[in-house]
Amino acid sequence: MKVVLQNLTKKFPGRGRKNPAEVTAVDHFDFEIPDGKLIGLLGPSGCGKSTTLNLISGLQRPTEGRIFFGEEDVTLLPPEERGIGLVFQNYALYPHLTVRQNILFPLENLKGKDKLTKPQMLEKALEAARLVQIEELMDRRPGELSGGQQQRVAIARALVKMPRVLLLDEPLSNLDARLRLQTREEIRRIQRETGITTIFVTHDQEEAMSISDMIVVMNAGVVQQIGKPQEVYDDPVNLFVAKFLGTPPINVFEGSIQDGRLYIGEDAVMDMEEYEGEAASEAEKVQDKEAGSGSGRQVYVGIRPEGFILRQDGPFCCQLAGVEVMGRDISVVSTNKAALAPAVRSIISTEDREKIHGTQVRFALRPRKVFLFDKETGERI
Ligand code: ATP
Repeated sequence: MKVVLQNLTKKFPGRGRKNPAEVTAVDHFDFEIPDGKLIGLLGPSGCGKSTTLNLISGLQRPTEGRIFFGEEDVTLLPPEERGIGLVFQNYALYPHLTVRQNILFPLENLKGKDKLTKPQMLEKALEAARLVQIEELMDRRPGELSGGQQQRVAIARALVKMPRVLLLDEPLSNLDARLRLQTREEIRRIQRETGITTIFVTHDQEEAMSISDMIVVMNAGVVQQIGKPQEVYDDPVNLFVAKFLGTPPINVFEGSIQDGRLYIGEDAVMDMEEYEGEAASEAEKVQDKEAGSGSGRQVYVGIRPEGFILRQDGPFCCQLAGVEVMGRDISVVSTNKAALAPAVRSIISTEDREKIHGTQVRFALRPRKVFLFDKETGERI
């Protein structure tokens, strides 16, 4: 089932003297979610992820805009008539009911032509339990289950009616690191097996990137970028998106473009022609502006940690602060006056370790891993 969001907007009125300003939690969100895909809705706390999900589920009404499931306009339908499955961070299971009874619950409320016989209900509950691999736990109560198992029950309960759309709001936040990894793979598997269009809200970029077909990056109610995870990572539209994706995060420096070269501090770190090679039209525009202004153009330079190559004659010089071993790779931590953060992190292969001597490290840069941003707007150039 495709889900279409048209100009979707939600404003919350200001409250009292303490919070007089109106909040636009979701600001003109347009997106067609393709049928059968897993979409990761991603952004920092307060960016409007949960509100978007609540609008899609019908728990909240939009101030403006429309929502379609397939061709059907569901904007004014109550949640129970939308055919959605919902899973929240806190599993919200009924503690006095067994796992079986919890999963059966949504089926027992079906009315009219949808009403099922008891054996039909039990069969469906078992099917959902099998899907999330908890069929041995059917007679236990939630208090007798681990967090991961409880979340599986919540997912089974959301799936038992075979919803048209599955909505997951930070479903892994209460799980420990290992279980988070395991459960996110499970969610991916279940989504693939059922083919249900799924929207997954998280503030964890790695989580969203690892399982989503597409990610939507939001900030302050506004969609910043939509795309396949790798594409968004490789081609961020602005500084916010570049900074939000990636661990370790992208390194950002104050820089300038002068005489066809990119400068960070005193170092001419890259020829703009190289940048041009990767992103021809954008770089040309940069050079045009530069030519017009006479002096260099000030920019933010974002360099992914994997964009540094250790080279004794490399043009970019940083002060060595330490080396962290990460198994196959090492992370060289350094400092640079033009960097916005106190530490510059580069990831290089272990074999290159012997190239590190003394108090300085010198790098060449991989042009594809270098992004330039307008200093005022933060937009990519
Ligand atoms: P988190 O990850 O912290 O849950 P989020 O991205 O899901 O954040 P939302 O919960 O959607 O963010 O909130 C978006 C904005 O709308 C925030 O500024 C929040 O304070 C505001 N907001 C949300 N619900 C209400 C409400 N019922 N009344 C007023 N403001 C609200």
